[in-house]
Amino acid sequence: MNEVKCTIIQDVLPLYVDEVVSEDTKEMVEQHLHQCEYCRREYRSMKQAVHIPAENKGSALIKIKKRWRKKKWIIAMASILATMALLFGMFAYIFYFETVIPYSEELITIEAQDNQLVSRYSGKSYAGVHATLPMTVEIDGIEKNVIVMFYTQTLYDSPSGSFINPKENTNIQGSTFQLSREQEVDLVYYAEFDAEEIFVEKRNDIIERATLIWERSP
Ligand SMILES: [Zn+2]
Repeated sequence: MNEVKCTIIQDVLPLYVDEVVSEDTKEMVEQHLHQCEYCRREYRSMKQAVHIPAENKGSALIKIKKRWRKKKWIIAMASILATMALLFGMFAYIFYFETVIPYSEELITIEAQDNQLVSRYSGKSYAGVHATLPMTVEIDGIEKNVIVMFYTQTLYDSPSGSFINPKENTNIQGSTFQLSREQEVDLVYYAEFDAEEIFVEKRNDIIERATLIWERSP
């Protein structure tokens, strides 16, 4: 009798553990558990099994933590990349971003050396020289051979850049740039320009905003 009852109890035990049995069944199970060691053990292991979802919650937490750790890692990588981009931007700005050096008589002079017209830059350093070849421009109704030029600097070679390259403070006694044969040039202007402006119809636009810095003595 007891044996038969055990199998019945085993059948309903899961429902009992889930607390979905009727009062009668509940009473029957409890009575049986009270006197049957075997079913009691079965009941306990079943109850523990019910507790497993709680452990699952724990592993869910671990998963969330892992995901968060992954997220943190992504955030860290992103901020490293952002920092690198910023540094690269600063680097590019300091070393490559060119600005026009405003014309000044003390810094920039045009002189003739052995029939060659050269420009001399007396500042510390510069990034580049941009100069046209002698080009024909009609000025006050007279065709002239004109060179337009300008110097550029980056923050690296600008006076404010001296904190970046203090050793550059040594006085360079100017560097020269060969423009053209002197006899081919009537006027030298200083102005920023881009390549498209060198076309004949646009040349006067440059001249209008340019500074005349050298003129062939008559
Ligand atoms: Zn039993």
